[in-house]
Amino acid sequence: MKQARKSPMESYLKAHPYLKETAELYLAMGKAIKAAAKPLAFPARKALAELAKGAFPVLQQFGLQAETVRTAASTLPAALAALARIPAPSKMQDALAAWAIWAKRAKAEERQAFFDNLLRQEDQEIRDFASREKLSEPILRTVGWAILAALVPDDVKSAELWEEVGWQHNYCPVCGRKPVMAQLRKEKEGRARFLACDGCHTVWPYARIGCAYCGNKDLRKMHILEPEGEESMRLDVCDVCRTYLKTYQKEGEEDVYLHDWATLHLDMIGEEKGLRKEGSVLLPSE
Ligand SMILES: [Zn+2]
Ligand SMILES: [Zn+2]
Repeated sequence: MKQARKSPMESYLKAHPYLKETAELYLAMGKAIKAAAKPLAFPARKALAELAKGAFPVLQQFGLQAETVRTAASTLPAALAALARIPAPSKMQDALAAWAIWAKRAKAEERQAFFDNLLRQEDQEIRDFASREKLSEPILRTVGWAILAALVPDDVKSAELWEEVGWQHNYCPVCGRKPVMAQLRKEKEGRARFLACDGCHTVWPYARIGCAYCGNKDLRKMHILEPEGEESMRLDVCDVCRTYLKTYQKEGEEDVYLHDWATLHLDMIGEEKGLRKEGSVLLPSE
């Protein structure tokens, strides 16, 4: 009998067995949330291009922001009910259950206030809310952003759209977050760089050279770290702002390599060197 071909993720996890549990958790979480939250109708390409001219992320524009917040808030109880069924560690199950109890008794406006703060990256508000209601801040952030991401249609997340539109800023054109990762792709003239958002998972083009966080363009003040045994990835380090950007330097396995969680072991390299990580949904924006 012919054996089914292994997916890139399966082969990757075979080479990185320590990521297996994390992967199972993230994949199950993504699936559960996708089943509960359907993408919203976004403005057409032309309208998005027009909006992008103002350098303002789509979800930070008033009309769509309000609709996204309302939809995320009304989806929350169903999303948490679906998440209660995934095989998660008991600590996480407890945190999800506590949030589900809150979501059931909270008013629509209270749920909306949470998503409004999350989307606008009002970190202090999220922190205060978590401690006031005794909820887990990492769970609020991870699950909250996964719900927001599920509301963004796939074609709006794709780099092709933003290349066409000509978005070249160092923040996500959809939600406004800083990038968490990058990818180098072959183009006609050499290689082009793309940035990836950890919040809504949009990918967009950015200048190939320089720091994507502070804008430093002096290459003498940047260097590259190449992790052993992981030739698809490198860390671009900025000596000015002391950050690193995990960069996928190949093509074809974006579903594996453009996930922050699938490359968490590379963050240890940055951490060992005393460098700062940016853009993760778990981290405050400033
Ligand atoms: Zn985003
Ligand atoms: Zn920098």
